[in-house]
Amino acid sequence: MNEKTINKDISCKDDFDPASITPDKALAHIFSAITAVSETESLPIREALGRVLANNIHSDINVPSGRNSAMDGYAINANDLPKTGTKTLSLIGSSFAGIPFSGSLESGQCVRIMTGAIMPEGTDTVIIQEDVEVNGSEILIDGETKARSNVREAGEDLAIGDLVLEKGMKLSPADIGLLASLGIAKVDVTRKLKVAFFSTGDELRSIGEELEDGMIYDSNRYTLYGMLSRLGVEIIDMGVVKDDKELMNQAFLEAKGKVDVLLTSGGVSVGEADFVKETLLNHGEVNFWKVAMKPGRPLTFGKLATTYFFGLPGNPVSVMVTFYQFVQPALKKLMGENTLLPVMVKVPCVSKLRKRPGRVEYQRGILEHDDSGKLVVRKTGAQGSGILRSMADANCFIVLPLDNEGVKPEEMVDVQPFYGVL
Ligand code: AMP
Ligand code: MG
Repeated sequence: MNEKTINKDISCKDDFDPASITPDKALAHIFSAITAVSETESLPIREALGRVLANNIHSDINVPSGRNSAMDGYAINANDLPKTGTKTLSLIGSSFAGIPFSGSLESGQCVRIMTGAIMPEGTDTVIIQEDVEVNGSEILIDGETKARSNVREAGEDLAIGDLVLEKGMKLSPADIGLLASLGIAKVDVTRKLKVAFFSTGDELRSIGEELEDGMIYDSNRYTLYGMLSRLGVEIIDMGVVKDDKELMNQAFLEAKGKVDVLLTSGGVSVGEADFVKETLLNHGEVNFWKVAMKPGRPLTFGKLATTYFFGLPGNPVSVMVTFYQFVQPALKKLMGENTLLPVMVKVPCVSKLRKRPGRVEYQRGILEHDDSGKLVVRKTGAQGSGILRSMADANCFIVLPLDNEGVKPEEMVDVQPFYGVL
């Protein structure tokens, strides 16, 4: 069902607000506003782990550099494999990894060879040592081994000129190993982003402060810190800013134009919205969206001078949901990554889920194996947007589309696993 049909079908059972935009549309707006940073830096490959590659990497060498043995055994020429029965070959030397056999072999000869050792000239096949009977300087073989077995060809892993790693990839442990196997010491990556954030709210106290009646500890600065850390950005924690026009103004002034991205949480619910809106509009171009999603409906996005700005809701779960759905893809785009969206998998849901049509819901789930080993998802407990526990217990979002009207047990649902789950 598209937005138009939903508009038409609006009923009291329907939560769609015609003034709202879909999460897809919000994300499309954000993407179209963001241009990747162009500055790069050259880093030793270990330090480049988790960073985004700024150009394509091609191989200058063959890996492996020469044809070598995949097993411990004996290097022979396939022409010496007997068609029937057995055959005796004379052992004329050995080839170790790093210490090759320098001569060449004639018919009826073989060389002892170890894994990774270069195949001597005149050989093309390795018979594993378990299939050989050794008698002094002779070995007895049969015809069971196939010609060219147990040999790794030069360039089999990477050949000269191959595209090895593509611009825009986030470098993984395997990637930096691959770079090492090519003898590459340094790579160009896009520069680190600077991301600042502050929380807003008179009720917020920081750890170490006394918690008077009606006050709560600020948790958003910690979840934001955690999620940003995993993206490898430079983090600037600006603390808590009171619900005060002048203080808020100061905070925006401090960050605007000095960091790539500024995130705030809170201050967008009814009553607070107007003064934050007014303050923000003095600093740049800002959109105030009602997004057809739950949780995370109010979302503010814009640009304050050169700084991209996200005004996230205050509720702890809403902060995390809007971060994963909008801020993370935006930061990935900004740092030049070519994979922007979280992975989605379809799995059966073993819980009954309640949902009204008209908005996309991000319910918190636990992806796990059932007794028969099948991958399934179930929901965590209470789903209120203030219940951070529901996020801590979860390892994924269950994403229910706009028109979905609830899920019966065993129905298939879309799931977005959190970092490191799959
Ligand atoms: P607000 O949008 O400022 O009205 O915040 C919505 C709800 O989220 C309120 O219950 C706030 O107390 C709560 N909240 C806002 N900021 C934080 C924060 N940094 N840590 C924990 N809860 C918060
Ligand atoms: Mg507030």
